[in-house]
Amino acid sequence: MPLHIHDTLRREKRLFEPRDPNRVTLYVCGPTVYDYAHIGNARPPVVFDVLVRLLRRTYGVDKVIYARNVTDVDDKINQKAAREGVPIGEVTARYEAAYLSDMGLLNVSPPDLAPHVTDYIPAIVDQIQAIVDAGCAYAAEGHVLFDVSSYKSYGALSGRNLDDMIAGARVEVAPYKKNPHDFVLWKPSKTDEPSWPSPWGEGRPGWHIECSAMIEQTLGLPIDIHGGGIDLVFPHHENEIAQGVCAHGHAHDDQAHDEYARYWMHNGFLTVDAEKMSKSIGNVLLLHDLVQAMPGEVVRWALLSAHYRQPLDWNQGLLDQSKKSLDRLYGVVRDAVALLSPEQWANAQIQAKTFVPPVYASDVEDPLEDDLNTPGAIAGLFAIASAVRTQMMDVPRTPDHLKGIALGAASLVEMADLLGVLQETPEDWFLGADVELRAEVEALLDKRTTARAAKDWPEADRIRDRLNALNVVVMDGPEGATWRMMG
Ligand code: AMP
Ligand code: ZN
Repeated sequence: MPLHIHDTLRREKRLFEPRDPNRVTLYVCGPTVYDYAHIGNARPPVVFDVLVRLLRRTYGVDKVIYARNVTDVDDKINQKAAREGVPIGEVTARYEAAYLSDMGLLNVSPPDLAPHVTDYIPAIVDQIQAIVDAGCAYAAEGHVLFDVSSYKSYGALSGRNLDDMIAGARVEVAPYKKNPHDFVLWKPSKTDEPSWPSPWGEGRPGWHIECSAMIEQTLGLPIDIHGGGIDLVFPHHENEIAQGVCAHGHAHDDQAHDEYARYWMHNGFLTVDAEKMSKSIGNVLLLHDLVQAMPGEVVRWALLSAHYRQPLDWNQGLLDQSKKSLDRLYGVVRDAVALLSPEQWANAQIQAKTFVPPVYASDVEDPLEDDLNTPGAIAGLFAIASAVRTQMMDVPRTPDHLKGIALGAASLVEMADLLGVLQETPEDWFLGADVELRAEVEALLDKRTTARAAKDWPEADRIRDRLNALNVVVMDGPEGATWRMMG
């Protein structure tokens, strides 16, 4: 089934047809680096990481260009630096590094391009100038404002009508604005704030213009897919379109938005224990803390357990269920691998890299190609896992039969890679991040090997009991002892 995605602008699921299948482009609004990201902020990068994996599988690894920006110019960054009495660059470097390392723990592949606003100021200034020249923006009191009445299709993405918006406006109107919904493209900076030269005086860009300028610079227009959280539809993405279209003189063209981005995707919001996350309620969960407290894979699984457009409630039950699901799948891989020689398993894994039997592949690909239905893909992983379990129940085991088990388990791992899960070895998974336990187990195994070499059987048995007490099963084979955690 070819990929279909729900397009926010057209409000329907559409067949995905890239402009150029040899160069599929995707842009997702990235973090503003002034603090640790909360768990809601982790939903877009994880969801769009799955989309990128799917696109790479479909079009080829090097045929997809994924850009996720870093907003390193922002009032909140300035405030944080001022509060701490440190340079702005120190704040942005600290939180960007934390973001990237936490993304790594979630197995989110780094984007191909990560443009930083501070590296694109001249391009931003040029785009603002083009919008002014097109008659869609005006300078006033050191600011440059986008004139929303100048763009015919303003409101098309969010489904808002400008006249209704004006009638219901509650925005505080700055005296220099012609229209309450006109938004800032450029603004003056105070003395201690970062600033750059521009034809309108020293200052800095507004938020929306950063993305439209960087998209054009890094990917070129139109891009295939633009993504982000649902809260960005209005005003951020609506304004991006207005800027991107008007900078090229298409303010009066109904369909000009197609020349900016061809498909718009937005993820739903995450709540915590059925409440909106907020500092005043005190229920803001930081990603940085969560990935210290549990395997990143559990967090990733939980984030993918609901369809991306649906709301997702984060609660203990969700985490317990996610851990249990991963235990079950890793358990199948562990039990299959236990029946195979290391060569058989290695060969099956190599085979699955180039060929997954279509029944297994479609279990996971079909739901993902249906607007990135991750719960469906998760069900597909369980379908593959139970097929492998069924094969394992058959005895006696012929060589062909073992080959089938090997290819089934390797297919499970390969298809799970589309979701970015199940990529640890089962041993590592069941041991978790417990480095100390692992060291203790290995030290005990060494002692046991020594005791056995000295034929000190009572000592070897005592050590085995101690290992069992740690929930570790020891298996003696022709190539020495191996071990695993009891599932
Ligand atoms: P921000 O740093 O607030 O610009 O947010 C970064 C990204 O996280 C944006 O794509 C937001 O739409 C998204 N986001 C913020 N809060 C949530 C939430 N509670 N659930 C899902 N996505 C969110
Ligand atoms: Zn953006």
